[in-house]
Amino acid sequence: MVTHHHGHHHEDMLSVEDARDHILNQIGVLDAQNFPITDALGLVIADQIRSGINIPPLDNSAMDGYAVRSADVSTATYQHPVMLEILETIPAGSLPRKILRPGTASRIMTGAPIPEHCDAVIPFEDTTEKEFSKSGELAEIGIRIPAFPGTNVRSKGKDIMKGDSVLLGGHIITAATVGVLASMGMSHVRAIRKPVVSILSTGNELLTPGEKPAEGKIFDSNSSSIIASVSQLGAIPKYIGIARDEMESVRDKLSEAMESDLVISSAGVSKGDYDMVKDVMSEHGDLQFWSVRMRPAKPLAFGTLNKDSKTSVPLIGLPGNPVSSLVAFEQFCRPAILKMMGKTNMHRPTIQAVLKDSIVNYDSRRVYARVIVKQTEDGYTAITTGHQDSNILTSMVHANGLAICPEEEESKEPGDIVTVIMLND
Ligand code: AMP
Ligand code: MG
Repeated sequence: MVTHHHGHHHEDMLSVEDARDHILNQIGVLDAQNFPITDALGLVIADQIRSGINIPPLDNSAMDGYAVRSADVSTATYQHPVMLEILETIPAGSLPRKILRPGTASRIMTGAPIPEHCDAVIPFEDTTEKEFSKSGELAEIGIRIPAFPGTNVRSKGKDIMKGDSVLLGGHIITAATVGVLASMGMSHVRAIRKPVVSILSTGNELLTPGEKPAEGKIFDSNSSSIIASVSQLGAIPKYIGIARDEMESVRDKLSEAMESDLVISSAGVSKGDYDMVKDVMSEHGDLQFWSVRMRPAKPLAFGTLNKDSKTSVPLIGLPGNPVSSLVAFEQFCRPAILKMMGKTNMHRPTIQAVLKDSIVNYDSRRVYARVIVKQTEDGYTAITTGHQDSNILTSMVHANGLAICPEEEESKEPGDIVTVIMLND
């Protein structure tokens, strides 16, 4: 580790944490809506859910076999089965019609409610049933093993008791949650709604993918990568399009973008001649422009756009370079969107890895290097994806992590331990 001795002036730069806190402090959790349970995966449950029913609803059999009174079969052995009179067959979905008297048994299928006075079920394989071909027509059955009260009986309410608090507000709905909701008979669930996120790009140089390449122009990749990133979080992207570097064009697109919960723009926020997005945005609300002490993605805009006299929409203005916009999305948009969705853990998992090559820090910013993390016998290793300039978008494609070189270190060298933010979820 080498520490900078020469003076750098970073007073005008915000740390990543300060910038993120500033943004999150001005983002609220959205309201709740009713969702069909199968559309609610990944959403956050709005309020406590109590069960209106017992699950299972009745004591029932855990096996295909014979419902018995355990006291009747206490002496049963393989050689000397206890013989019981067969009363009926109880399929799943039907109710028993006969009460078990001493010396009787009923054939029963898995999930079928057990008859009155039954306290155990003997699986077919521990009876004499398989020795007879037409088992359904037997009058008697031999039981070859003893049973305790409760053997192979699933008791009513064992999973969920009627009135139980099953899920609390704040729970993130998983596939299993959807199953539990369904098991309680619920078709819908109240959950924090998905934010609608407007996405717009700015720049005269931008073409829409699908258009004919033209000299001096580049394809707008930010809109697409941000749309995909928003979708990945479970939010709803709303593509606004490309604003030209003209006041009118930016105004138009912004007014369309305001009909959403969050606006994410890219480019036009640095110090170039045509970076007028800043000016137009400021007209429409309370916009602040920062330099964040990170590489890539130094320029960042944040603020609120006034929709009308009462409502405003937060806006995050990402830098234009494709890698910068994605890295800044990670650091600022992702946590903002997750907070809107009611999630409280906004951080990606990090790991410690042995660096295989070098990460250079030119100017005392926090470097987020795109790396490939591998799990080896000796722990994790990380190797950069090569050229790390902020316009090299392919450096991001192959990466599964962002390795950090802290502000105060001039480099990380081969063999150094680095903290890596894991990007794959
Ligand atoms: P700017 O902040 O407008 O100066 O943009 C910085 C760099 O990012 C320039 O090289 C732009 O051409 C590039 N850029 C801006 N917007 C996009 C975009 N939507 N897709 C790809 N590159 C972009
Ligand atoms: Mg531009």
